Amino acid sequence: MPTAHRLPQTVHFSKNAANVFFHILTQCNLNCRHCYINPEQHGRRRLSLETIQSWLRVLVNRAPQANLIFLGGEPTLHPDLAQAVRVARNMGYRSVTIDTNGYLFHDILEKTTPEHVDFFSFSLDGASPATNDPIRGKGAFSACTAGIRAAKARGFRTSLIYTVSRFNLQEITAVPPLLADLGLDRFFIQVIGLRGQSATCPQTQGNEPTLQITRQEWEAFVLPTAQTVAHTGIVVNYPKVYLDPDVSFACAGRVADNYFVFPNGRVYRCPLCEDYPLHSLCFHHDQLVDTPSINEADLFQLDIPEGCVMNRLIQPGNLTYLADGRPAYKIACCLLKEELTATAH
Ligand code: SF4
Ligand code: SF4
Repeated sequence: MPTAHRLPQTVHFSKNAANVFFHILTQCNLNCRHCYINPEQHGRRRLSLETIQSWLRVLVNRAPQANLIFLGGEPTLHPDLAQAVRVARNMGYRSVTIDTNGYLFHDILEKTTPEHVDFFSFSLDGASPATNDPIRGKGAFSACTAGIRAAKARGFRTSLIYTVSRFNLQEITAVPPLLADLGLDRFFIQVIGLRGQSATCPQTQGNEPTLQITRQEWEAFVLPTAQTVAHTGIVVNYPKVYLDPDVSFACAGRVADNYFVFPNGRVYRCPLCEDYPLHSLCFHHDQLVDTPSINEADLFQLDIPEGCVMNRLIQPGNLTYLADGRPAYKIACCLLKEELTATAH
């Protein structure tokens, strides 16, 4: 019997659901081909526990009950991560997630508990070592899947992040059985952003894009896979990416409350700005202060027919124009997500 097509629910922006994406270091044991970390812009410092604590306090005072995501680099390389998790919990952060490449350094699973960490979120970019490891590094598939199993065995909730690019587009269709086998709770699909390492590789080969995929490919491979996964009961979250011209556009920088914090003190409201010194906030002597214009906040105010201004500036290869010069669609804010759940119909 054919299964019903599930309608995705758009996760609308809200000032009342703040998110803090806290990069506590930029060091990593891997060197992924599409890594968005840019040490020239983000620094090479590993924050001390005291500084992490101090910045967490400032952020939770400003955005009570924010969701907190610890990131790196590889955050488990920080020897005080477990302590930072406890500190954040005691301050009242609504949820705490650790994004990891799966190597789980410093025995992090033994040092924290499912009561303190809502999710361990693992990154894989293929359903097999043959696809994943050329992107993320030799042995990365095996290490990550072993890490997921170890986290599950200790009762942690787990999610998987898959960044779709031309390197692994078709392989996404092989992911659903892997998710079921590993017992993951959530599946996050990301679209490649041209930041960090991926901004430095050639964007076209002949007439073909090297990294970014087209709207047709997104609809042919990614959306059907999201449906397949949702039917197995796993929650799926993916960016909206394409908006028809008559659909209204919103920039999260104007209407949401997100903080992308880096170890050199820069705090962005938009991840697409992270390759540039466009941050609208920064930590100065452990105080969060506004930066002078021109910064990302000025860009958020610009209305253009292509939708997202930063997308138009840094990765216009994903835009298509009609014969009369109008864009065929808008590119949504990269933070606008669709969610498919087991119960949505
Ligand atoms: S993408 Fe993540 S795991 Fe890969 S090199 Fe960058 S920080 Fe490390
Ligand atoms: S990605 Fe685009 S729309 Fe979203 S916050 Fe950044 S500039 Fe605004």
